[in-house]
Amino acid sequence: MSDQKFSTNALHAGHDTTQTGGTRAVPIYQTSSYVFNDTEHAANLFALKELGFIYTRLNNPTNQILQDRLAAVEGGVGAVVFASGTSAIATGLMTLLKAGDHIVASSSLYGGTFTLLNVTLPRLGITTTFVDASNPESFGKAVQDNTRAFFVESLGNPKLDVLDLKAISKQAKAAQVPFIVDNTVASPALLNPIEHGANLVIHSLTKYIGGQGTSLGGAIIDAGTFDWTNGKFPEFTEPSAGYHGLVYSEALGAAAFTFKLILEGLRDFGGALSPYNAFQIIQGLETLNVRIKQHSANALELATWLEGREEVAWVNYPGLKSSKYYDLAKEYLPKGQSGLVTFGLKGGFEAAKKVTDATKVFSLLANIGDTKSLIIHPASTTHQQLTAEQQIDAGVGADLIRLSVGLEDIADLKADLEQAFAQ
Ligand SMILES: *Cc1c(COP(=O)(O)O)cnc(C)c1O
Repeated sequence: MSDQKFSTNALHAGHDTTQTGGTRAVPIYQTSSYVFNDTEHAANLFALKELGFIYTRLNNPTNQILQDRLAAVEGGVGAVVFASGTSAIATGLMTLLKAGDHIVASSSLYGGTFTLLNVTLPRLGITTTFVDASNPESFGKAVQDNTRAFFVESLGNPKLDVLDLKAISKQAKAAQVPFIVDNTVASPALLNPIEHGANLVIHSLTKYIGGQGTSLGGAIIDAGTFDWTNGKFPEFTEPSAGYHGLVYSEALGAAAFTFKLILEGLRDFGGALSPYNAFQIIQGLETLNVRIKQHSANALELATWLEGREEVAWVNYPGLKSSKYYDLAKEYLPKGQSGLVTFGLKGGFEAAKKVTDATKVFSLLANIGDTKSLIIHPASTTHQQLTAEQQIDAGVGADLIRLSVGLEDIADLKADLEQAFAQ
């Protein structure tokens, strides 16, 4: 299936209708567990001599179809889904790393990810150096002997910085560490980080892929390109005490990390996606390609309109010629630059709060990627836990308003902001 184009994969990959009683839609397999044929069959499944379903914390037929589709649309050898984007990131890093290891990360990250790397993982002995991602060489310069991963967002939330993924992937290659790219804001319909050297791609499925604001979910897509036998990752090349002596790199080859995520990550940390949410997210994935293009068109039109308003001090959208990231957007996001727009008002912080409170079509809430338009003031909400300096590095000034531009009629979105500015 993965030889086919994006939308065909988004609609069909992973679903063999002869295996689901002919159902055209992907069914919801709402079950916690699976009947074994006999004790030998059960023993073979647990020993990986035979692949099959054991328990929904590890896998589920609905989730498997979503996994196969995500692997197909991102161009990976496998994918694993989780209860949320945050669960994907935390489980991924805890499956990959151990106490004493070090990460080099972009300072422009989703607030929750920044806090995980900056506060929670250091408590477990895993530290992070945050660097200015607009300078790819800063990654190489921050590498230490114990560095075991680079972590970035392809299109930072909410800084909307487009990264030079190719240049950063070269630095990761030189350091012999996996290059992990959170591709949530761009979505796989606009950008495939694996084509630019990413080894692992992360999504919060809660956002554009689910697309309707109904269900949390997360995923890791494994490119299958990282050489786990380079000497830095003994957990892949030595017998695993946690899985009856399995040597991941030998037994599972390119899919070693995919299986480690299931056999250790999901088994031990338990962040499994509900099959019902997988079903909802599959509905979203099927229409992602048409939605994200309209989100992008609406966002570009609204950003252009905002630039012409006298109340507005500045506008940031990578599709605008005035954006610092315009040239990188042309290179990495030629099909569209997604639905997030940020701007500041001449009235600063107080005006930002007033406008955020006064919109009627835009909903004030902490999410992105919904079909409905959303508005938030990150400095007081999603990025509240950061210091003033960290907020600046993350691109969150006190006056910044973030819009997630939905699929409403653009005239109504302009009218809504206009009446809010008047207030
Ligand atoms: C929302 C988001 C996350 C976290 O995902 P959840 O599904 O909310 O846990 C991670 N990264 C980015 C870029 C996000 O926007």
